[in-house]
Formats: sequence, C-alpha cells, structure tokens
Amino acid sequence: MANKETKNETNKFQAIISHAKEYGFIFQSSEIYDGLSAVYDYGPWGSELKKNIRDYWWKSMTRMHDNIVGIDAAIFMHPTTWKASGHVDGFSDPMIDNKDSKKRYRVDHLIEGYADTLDKDAAEALLARMNQLLAADDLDGLKQLILDEKITCSVSGTSNWTDVRQFNLMFSTQLGSVSEEASEIYLRPETAQGIFVNFLNVQKTARMKIPFGIAQVGKAFRNEIVARQFIFRMREFEQMEMQFFIRPGTEEEWYAYWKEERMNWHLSLGFSPDKYRFHDHDKLAFYAKAAVDIEFEFPFGFKEVEGIHSRTDHDLSQHQKFSKKKLQYFDTEINQNYVPYVIETSIGLDRTVLMVLSEAYAEEDIPKEDGTKDSRVVLRIPPRVAPIKLAVLPLTKKDGLPEIARDLIKECREDFYCFYEEKDAIGKRYRRMDALGTPYCVTIDYQTKEDQTVTIRDRDSMTQERIPLDKVKEWVSLRIR
Ligand code: ATP
Repeated sequence: MANKETKNETNKFQAIISHAKEYGFIFQSSEIYDGLSAVYDYGPWGSELKKNIRDYWWKSMTRMHDNIVGIDAAIFMHPTTWKASGHVDGFSDPMIDNKDSKKRYRVDHLIEGYADTLDKDAAEALLARMNQLLAADDLDGLKQLILDEKITCSVSGTSNWTDVRQFNLMFSTQLGSVSEEASEIYLRPETAQGIFVNFLNVQKTARMKIPFGIAQVGKAFRNEIVARQFIFRMREFEQMEMQFFIRPGTEEEWYAYWKEERMNWHLSLGFSPDKYRFHDHDKLAFYAKAAVDIEFEFPFGFKEVEGIHSRTDHDLSQHQKFSKKKLQYFDTEINQNYVPYVIETSIGLDRTVLMVLSEAYAEEDIPKEDGTKDSRVVLRIPPRVAPIKLAVLPLTKKDGLPEIARDLIKECREDFYCFYEEKDAIGKRYRRMDALGTPYCVTIDYQTKEDQTVTIRDRDSMTQERIPLDKVKEWVSLRIR
C-alpha cells in the first residue's frame, strides 16, 4: 500500500512538472540547448502566479503592518559582507563522491535517502546519529557511518566512497573589466545581508522605532550540488525575507508571534492545516536562540518552505565588527543604546509556487449527462493568486457576442487579469481554463443580448449561475481578495 501511494505521488509529481511546462507555467532554462541543470524560467502563467504570490507576501508584510518597510538591495555586495556573515568560511555542505560513478552526494541527503528504506525505529536511530555528527562537524565520523551502514551509490551500486569534504555553495565572479584591477565578489546566497547592512539607513530615513521590520524580495544564488526536485532546489531562486529588529530580552515573545503569524499567512491561502507542520531545528547555529521550519507536505514528503529564526544580535554585531561602523539604536523608552536582536522570517518564493501547484493539481472524473464519464485536469489555485482571474467566452464568434465580451474585459482588466477566448466549443474552453487554474469563466450568449445577463461558472464546483452583466466585476472582485 505504502509503495503504491509513493508511486502515485511520484507519478503525480511528474504529472505536475509536465503540466507546468505544457500550460506555460515553468520551462527548463535554455531548453533549446538541452537546458541548464536546476535553473528554470517562468512562462506567461507561471510568472503571473509567482508575481501574485510575491505581491500577496509583500502586502501582508508591509501594508498590513505599520512597522514594516521594504527595501530592494543589490545582488552584488562588498565582499567583506560575506566574511562578516560567516558565508565565506561556513556556508558549505558536507559532500561525498562515489569513486566509481563519480556522482556527488550531499551527505545528509544520502543518509536520509537510505533511512527511508529502513523501519521507523532504525531510521530514527540513524538520523539521530547523523544529526549528532553533523552538529559536531565530524566529517570522518559521517564517512564511517556511511561505511558502517553499507550505504551504496544509486548509480554504481558500490560503496567505494571518497572522504567527506565541505563544499562552499557561493558563486563567485569578478568585478571590473580584466584590464582594471579585478576583485572577486559573490552572487548573494541570501537576501538577508542586504537588510542588515542597510539597518541604520532604513531606521533613520524611514524614522522607524524598535520594534520594526525590513522586508525584501529578491534573487539568491547557491551552487547546490544535489539540485533536484524541479523548482524545490534551484541554483538561482527568489527569497522573501523579513528581519524584525527588537529590544534584547523580548525575543521569546516576538519569536512566538512570528511563528504564529507566518503559519496564519500560509493557512490564509486556503490549504488544509494537515498539510503543514512545524519542525524545530536539532542543530542550532551557535548564536541562535531558536529556529523552526514551516514544512509543507509536497508529493515527495514534508519539506521546508520557510524558516523562522531567532538570531540574537549576531548579524548586526558581526557587521559592526567588520565595518568598524556602529550599528546601534538608541531606545528612548529605556534610555539605552544597544545592538538590536533579530527575528527573521525567510520563505522561498519558488518553493511557494511549487507548494501551490502541488496542492492545486487534481485529475478528476466528471459524470456526463448521458451517464458516461469525462475527465479533467484542474488547478485549484487559490483565487487571490491565480494567474487569470476571469475568462470571458463569447458563445459564438458572431452576432455581436465578441463585442460584448470585449467590453466586459475593458471594464474589468484594470482590476484583475482577464482572458478572452472565442475558439473551440465552450466545454473545451472550460477545460483549458481549469488547466490554467482560472477560478471564473463568464459565457456571453444570445440571452445576454436580450436581458443583459451572463452565465458565470465556478472552476471548483463547476456550478453555473446567471448574473447581471454589470455585476460581473463586483462579483469577481469580492471573491479574489
Ligand atoms: P534547505 O535546507 O532546503 O537547503 P535552507 O535551510 O538552506 O534550505 P534557508 O537558508 O533557511 O534554507 O533559506 C530560506 C528559504 O529559502 C528556504 O526555506 C527555502 O524556501 C528557500 N531556499 C533555500 N535554498 C533554496 C534553493 N536552492 N532553491 C529554492 N529555494 C530555496
């Protein structure tokens, strides 16, 4: 049974990937050159979906909180930033290579994959041992564990392993032309540092008082060795991060607040609470007070979508030390100067897109009037983030119906994304809109000419009702907020 379910879930994941390509959501990067591994492009509907999720996050952070403002920092930063943040020395994963197949594995992934094949108790014991070794940075111990467990490479089937080594995940490039004095810089592996280095600029210019937050959305780059699972783990991806600056000593209450606030944001998308869980970190960074992941049940299991971290004054103190500039705040309420503590919320935009697609995708049988069955693929994307909100479909291409449809689109498109389609039978057009996740379709028919009413169809229930043409905009607007 478990195997069948796993197979079905694997099939479902493959079906989602194919669907995302076929319907213009996500393409492999540079596909005509056979693609670039773990890099993806968003097509017309994928980019619209991604933008809507980004906007929804941005609005819920900045507009819905009076004490959070946004910034848009550059991808390139002074190289010392990454020394201060610890990325130059510490942003690495333990890797191991199989000498026969030359395939490289992230050690934790290799062991976790093997643990999946064991019974529950054995798997838990193995993972506990692995976490201990990871926490102690014991690379020899990790190799010994792999040998003791006789873990083999999935390609060669052998356990002819190299030593375990740390592999830095940052991409580097040269700033300046070759003739000038070149200097090595990094593509940022996270957006957060752009917030930390601008802490005082923002606090002063936007006249922020602690507690306050700075939000940012932007690209990040990581040379992921085991890049797999479609857009779950990419080499170029987008993060939505918020650093919340607080008075030291208040971190517990703010950590609890952001944990709940962020889970509520996820639940506001409308997916079942059973699909989410918190996962406390076993291995805390030395400066961290607490860290938790919000995990979502993807077709390949529960995995992290977002991290919430209580980071003390570590980041600002490090930048203070390396830049020799004070990054402090004078708190007039207690008449004290201090380096603020930080609670961070960090969510991957692409992972959120995958979360929405995974949960939205459904293959359904639908009974027909003559007793036979039809089928459809539907994306039940939450209406507020759906790429197209309303499709307007004239029943025929003549007798003035297209003109009425075009006028309706003109009326609505300032407020939400509308799509016009006059080709094919209505049923076929509905199917196409279901596959794109369009929550509402309006059909303009001959009755519309007589009484100024239209049929509006709901994607999920497939029910139809007749409403006045001049109420369509309001009807849809109420349902996509
Ligand atoms: P993982 O353990 O999966 O590598 P992480 O703990 O390194 O993730 P963070 O550094 O906390 O991730 O980054 C915050 C968020 O950014 C993650 O929760 C995830 O949603 C997203 N993210 C991180 N790495 C990638 C990636 N390679 N591709 C897509 N999204 C990513």
